[in-house]
Amino acid sequence: MSNRTAGLPVVAFVGRPNVGKSTLFNRVVGDSRAAIVEDRARTTRDRLYGDAEWNGRRFVVVDTGGLELAPGDPIEEQVQLQARLAISEADVIVFLVDAESGLTPADLDAAELLRRTTKPVLVAANKADNDRREQDAAEFYELGWEEQYAISASHGRGVADLLDAVVWALPPESEAEVARKAREEEAEAWAKDVAAGRLEPVVAGEEDEEGGAEDEAESEADVARWDAMMAAESEEPPAIAFVGRPNVGKSSLLNALLGEERTIVSDMPGTTRDAIDTTIPWGRSEVVLIDTAGIRRRGRVASGPAAERYSTLRALKAISRADVAILVLDANDGLTAQDGHVAGYVVEEGKGLVIAVNKWDVVEGKTHKTFDEFVAALRRDLPFVDYAPVVSISAKTGQRVQRVLELAVDVWGERRKRAGTGELNRLVAAAVERNPPALVHGRRVKVRYATQVGVAPPTFVFFATDPASLHFSYRRYLENRLRDAYGFAGTPIRLVFREQVREKRTYKGRSRSKR
Ligand code: GDP
Ligand code: GDP
Repeated sequence: MSNRTAGLPVVAFVGRPNVGKSTLFNRVVGDSRAAIVEDRARTTRDRLYGDAEWNGRRFVVVDTGGLELAPGDPIEEQVQLQARLAISEADVIVFLVDAESGLTPADLDAAELLRRTTKPVLVAANKADNDRREQDAAEFYELGWEEQYAISASHGRGVADLLDAVVWALPPESEAEVARKAREEEAEAWAKDVAAGRLEPVVAGEEDEEGGAEDEAESEADVARWDAMMAAESEEPPAIAFVGRPNVGKSSLLNALLGEERTIVSDMPGTTRDAIDTTIPWGRSEVVLIDTAGIRRRGRVASGPAAERYSTLRALKAISRADVAILVLDANDGLTAQDGHVAGYVVEEGKGLVIAVNKWDVVEGKTHKTFDEFVAALRRDLPFVDYAPVVSISAKTGQRVQRVLELAVDVWGERRKRAGTGELNRLVAAAVERNPPALVHGRRVKVRYATQVGVAPPTFVFFATDPASLHFSYRRYLENRLRDAYGFAGTPIRLVFREQVREKRTYKGRSRSKR
């Protein structure tokens, strides 16, 4: 069993329709991301969850309003479902009510449920756009929580105080979070320094052509630090999460991989909620299968839309702890919207993805074209993960189940690849020459320089004149050229564009500490 610590904490927004959950969601998720991820691909249209950062803490925000029951279901039922979801899966719950319309029966029902949890619940009385409304919001103390915040999601009033309280209520920061933050800060600092000419980008293995002895010493220090970072990261074996809707065969796949004797799960009350990861030998190393207890338990959960939503939220937690996610589909059902959400989340988190099409044994009328057709449909429906390997399997017969893990471990390796700066720049120069950016207001963006500043996922900084006017499709073009050259199969890659203010010039002999 691994001692891997928990992933990002989850904050759920609960409340009846129209209280302003999605407005608050957009505000919180919208402004808060660090610059290093500013170019993440647009993935899902209606977003259920997003990353937020406040006071240096990162967390996942879930808009449970997106998890709607069938249209036409009573509002009370919708809100109760949200509340249950939040209670079981979130670390902190923000219960939104509407100061404009006051308390409603649906609010009272949700409150009734939420009172039973020991998790922190913060009441946010939204639409308190002015002082009078703020005073009106006092009526919500009747719900029984002391922690109440009058906010205006659309104007921003009071939101900072609410977020302060949310961060305060989060569980303590895990080791994984601390490590991730250090990596991101490091990458960010490098990018800034390279942009400002304070630091020559040095990637291990690359020769600094004109560097004198003094410069080399400094570069070496940077390389050493970089390598130490990498080494710290690579101590952990690949961590793999199995995600997908109920009944697609996740637990069967897991059992096939683990062997029957390992699948006996303790069913003691209280233990099932805990994440249990299983480490298995893999080649000369090992791999960690994330939260296997949760998956096996899910085999007994009823199917249907509600169960699907539970599994989506659980998947989200597993993904944030994993390096690579295996999205399991049922070959007979194809892809659903929930699958799309999960895939989108994998990309946003910068994790690797393998798509396993299960129950291939019972696909009727298979021909030599069936698999290709299935893949073509997947590529059409999930264009933003067109780089993810797809494999058809049968957890029942064991067909290609080992291949799934092989692919996941391959993807793990792809996520850690590094491109040498010299080679990278020759490649980018050739790509730009062959297909220069379009003219914008009679001027052409010049892409001058690129360097890889991070791995897992591979992250590149491009320096360009006026990068803001570089069209999304051009970024995509450059991404594809990187993929042509380096593969990066199954992993998202990040391209960050930075303004290059002056001609490329290096200030040799200066180190970062003198900034
Ligand atoms: P949801 O159904 O809970 O996600 O609610 P929405 O975020 O879609 O908001 C419902 C309506 O309330 C929209 O018309 C919003 O513009 C409006 N709204 C949201 N926040 C505020 C606010 O702080 N003040 C006011 N006056 N209106 C708001
Ligand atoms: P989970 O909810 O995703 O963990 O799904 P389960 O592993 O519990 O499987 C759901 C159902 O699908 C069970 O009845 C399995 O026996 C069946 N099943 C799983 N994998 C396969 C497969 O590869 N082929 C066939 N024919 N049935 C499968």
